[in-house]
Amino acid sequence: MQNEKGITSVLNERRKFKPSPAFSRLAHVKSMQAYKRLCKAAERNPDAFWASLAKEMDWFSPWKTVCDWNPPFAKWFVGGKMNVAHNCIDRHLIGWRKNKAAIIWEGEPGDVRVLTYQDLYREVCICANALKSQGVKKGDRVSIYLPMIPELAITMLACARIGVTHSIIFGGFSAVALCDRINDASAKIVITSDGGYRKGEIVDLKEKVDEAVLKAPSVQRVVVVRRTGIPVAMKEGRDIWWHDLMKGMPDRCKAEALDSEHPLFILYTSGTTGKPKGVVHSTAGYLLGAMMTSRWVFDLKDTDTYWCTADIGWVTGHSYVVYGILANGGTTVMYEGAPTYPTPGRLWEMVDKYHVNIFYTAPTAIRALMKLGDTWPKQSRLSSLRLLGTVGEPINPTAWTWYHKVIGGGRCPIVDTWWQTETGAIMISPLPGATETKPGSATLPIPGIFPEVVDRDGVKAATNTGGYLVIKRPWPSMLRTVWGDPKRYEKQYWSDFPGCYFTGDGARCDQDGYFWVMGRVDDVMNVSGHRLGTMEIESALVSAPAVAEAAVVGKPDEIKGTAIVAFVTLRSGQQPSDALKAALRAHVEKEIGVIARPDDIRFTENLPKTRSGKIMRRLLRDIAVGRETTGDITTLEDYTILAKLRQDED
Ligand code: ATP
Ligand code: MG
Repeated sequence: MQNEKGITSVLNERRKFKPSPAFSRLAHVKSMQAYKRLCKAAERNPDAFWASLAKEMDWFSPWKTVCDWNPPFAKWFVGGKMNVAHNCIDRHLIGWRKNKAAIIWEGEPGDVRVLTYQDLYREVCICANALKSQGVKKGDRVSIYLPMIPELAITMLACARIGVTHSIIFGGFSAVALCDRINDASAKIVITSDGGYRKGEIVDLKEKVDEAVLKAPSVQRVVVVRRTGIPVAMKEGRDIWWHDLMKGMPDRCKAEALDSEHPLFILYTSGTTGKPKGVVHSTAGYLLGAMMTSRWVFDLKDTDTYWCTADIGWVTGHSYVVYGILANGGTTVMYEGAPTYPTPGRLWEMVDKYHVNIFYTAPTAIRALMKLGDTWPKQSRLSSLRLLGTVGEPINPTAWTWYHKVIGGGRCPIVDTWWQTETGAIMISPLPGATETKPGSATLPIPGIFPEVVDRDGVKAATNTGGYLVIKRPWPSMLRTVWGDPKRYEKQYWSDFPGCYFTGDGARCDQDGYFWVMGRVDDVMNVSGHRLGTMEIESALVSAPAVAEAAVVGKPDEIKGTAIVAFVTLRSGQQPSDALKAALRAHVEKEIGVIARPDDIRFTENLPKTRSGKIMRRLLRDIAVGRETTGDITTLEDYTILAKLRQDED
């Protein structure tokens, strides 16, 4: 089908999975009718809809206007005052949750810490007072460069408590990337540690901070948590140990009454498509989005033990390790280390150990664990699990099915959640007690969210026709701006389709109104007049039993316009061969047709990924044509992969 204004869709996945009556009966949203009622209410009167939900948060003073929309700038709950840390902690202390586990933390070496809500309150107050003692005030920025240890959650909540805007930088970033981000936010304080554990080794963080701070004149103080005990250099007058700083600090600290629109945090995007953007999130609107989606999508209840494996350095960790879960009074599991250390069974052993009920991870992790085979998950019971989730990339139906069968025992619904750093909260996802799922589809919008697939002219695309994914109305947890660069905010998100937020992703909507994200529009290939997304061809490749992971890119071709090059990682035990290449090309042709058949298949042990685990196709495009990489590669996880891929070319 010729489709010049949109993207041609070729995936043909027809399986459906209904929620079980037993699950639905106990769920927060129990049926499609209940879901539709919420959607209708939001459509009819968005202000009243959001206002009624916002009443579930504690307010110090009420808002006057629900939404002040001055495109493309939105303000929500204008005039209201509240505090995120108060909503995540203090309000749970007045009842039985006081002694409930807020955070169950496990370090990679196996050490464990459990913080009840009462414990968390004390630690956060002490930390907030310590920050104040260092001269930070409401409106200042603090950069946080920590491993996944409790102090990370404590620090972010302490900042929220006193109105300091936090900027968390993932611990895997280099000194240069760290320096850029500290300078962009002009942070006064950097909080780090003497390292953290990953794959049995100590990742040094302090040395990187020392290097970064040399070129970051705004930084007055570096606070260092002792995690590993390795010797680190402490600079006189600038550096201070966390435990020394906390000593003697009062364990009570008032939660500031902050404007709804007060900037809670700045977070830089993963950098999959280019230079990361400093996304700014607000106080009330952000928390409302994170809180409601945690309840609707994860069906979070007081009896659940919930585990999201994302690092808090990414938005998933902000919204669904910390803020959204604690706002509901939930129990969140936090893990410091690598998923495969000391064995590929680590995650599954932890699921059993803590009786995890809800488990949320990324397709990249699922594919990596699938590649290692079923023997590892089979060594654990996994019987406590009741719900599984994924986020970060489109999940290929084969990986979805593996997750469903091998991890979920065929009994757990899967929520494939589509959202972005910019959206603050989940936007498109099944509600597990209501929505029938289809492998590879993020299904339906969250109530109150209005996505649409449009063609290049902004006209709604026909059913099952690929196009551009936009959001048509503002929503409470949307980003407010790009830090220090409102022009970039306008240009990046609001200029392609007037009046709409443009996500940068391609998608199609099927006959049931289900959304299928097809990949990023930057990665779309123009093959013989068809514009093809990456997800569908990659999914066809991954559906071949020998394949664990695949990435496809376009390469200029005189005849076809673009030739399809597929980079393929095999499952353990599989050998690359010319025969396999031919078989895989034939497989794709059979699955989706000759237009999608790769012209070239290249086997590789690994694919280049961002530090958040997403495939960086723009780098593969450079490799496919033998070009030097010019774009930003600071977010690349492993530089040696690029060198290796280039070598394979020679
Ligand atoms: P940058 O914007 O700097 O290139 P990034 O887009 O990778 O980085 P994130 O905000 O972490 O940064 O990722 C959001 C993107 O991840 C989405 O736009 C989409 O492409 C992809 N994504 C997330 N969840 C899903 C999902 N469930 N299905 C398909 N794609 C998803
Ligand atoms: Mg993005």
